Amino acid sequence: MRRLALILFLFAATFVATAAETNYVCVVCGKGPLTGRIWLHQRGAVCNECYQLPNRCSLCGLPIGKDFAKTPDGRFLCAFDKATAVLDAAEAREVFTEARRELLGLFGRSFALNNPEVTVNLFDVDYWSENGRSDGLHKFGFSSTRKSARGEATHLVVMLSGRSRAELSATAAHEYTHLWINENRPADHAIDADTLEAICELVAYKLVEARGQTELQQLILANPYTHGEITKLVALEKENGIAYVLNWVKNGTTMRLESRTSALAAPLTRGTFTTTNAPAALPETLKLGGLMLDGQDRQAVVGGVSFSVGDTKWVKLRSRAVRIHCRDITRTGVVLELDGQREPITLKIGQEKYVP
Ligand SMILES: [Zn+2]
Ligand SMILES: [Zn+2]
Repeated sequence: MRRLALILFLFAATFVATAAETNYVCVVCGKGPLTGRIWLHQRGAVCNECYQLPNRCSLCGLPIGKDFAKTPDGRFLCAFDKATAVLDAAEAREVFTEARRELLGLFGRSFALNNPEVTVNLFDVDYWSENGRSDGLHKFGFSSTRKSARGEATHLVVMLSGRSRAELSATAAHEYTHLWINENRPADHAIDADTLEAICELVAYKLVEARGQTELQQLILANPYTHGEITKLVALEKENGIAYVLNWVKNGTTMRLESRTSALAAPLTRGTFTTTNAPAALPETLKLGGLMLDGQDRQAVVGGVSFSVGDTKWVKLRSRAVRIHCRDITRTGVVLELDGQREPITLKIGQEKYVP
């Protein structure tokens, strides 16, 4: 125990000149330098008093202090996320238009909509609760296209409020792609559901890639929502280009993009003019909410449960619980062993990983 204290002391002494790293100041209330029990969060250090505050930021989990915003359905946003979160429909429309313009720049005019009018709205979690969907929080977007008797399409996109502009852009790209597919997929070209979602994810991936948002790129790739189809499509696009993928939507006959040669007798979906694209089940994630340093004592908060090194505890996910053993806690993260998983996973502060 004494040795650990010494290591921490040496660490502190080494970085005294560059104070920021060790001269902890609470990012919630501004108090500092902090002593005693300190909580480390992705945003920085949090004093023990602020840690006890009752409300948490719905995006990053930081305790809510004096500076915050609240969505109409009661989600809190911290001072950091307040600055980048999209809360009004006008801004959401701006984000959608921006993403659309960038996609046309990347893919060319053939990715434009024939009926360019798109109604864009934001929704709060309540929107989904009202529709009897209990996992509403995990749905980020929804799109639909209605075709009139004369063949004119009316497009609607609805996206979850209170997310960052960057995340919202990726959702906008995804939903825009659904609209484009609704216009361009012939009624007799049935597309496998995972492939369909993966094409939309691929377009979102291309957008964040062009923007250099590597973290979002990784999240899209790691998302098991398309059951692995996204990684196949990213590879396929690299080889054949986006035009090949879009052309397949228009002129392909198979249900899956990969099976170029197999002439599957695909079930036809004639006369279906309205498509909705609300994802069915979304992945489970595990998040390291923060670390607690108190002298020689270290704890990690994983999925809302606090662990010391050597602890084995159950952590509740959205739809199930998973037994986790805490192997190690460092100053920046935690190493965990999950029941039934061969490889341990490493989480950094604030990092979220999908649980297989
Ligand atoms: Zn504080
Ligand atoms: Zn936050």
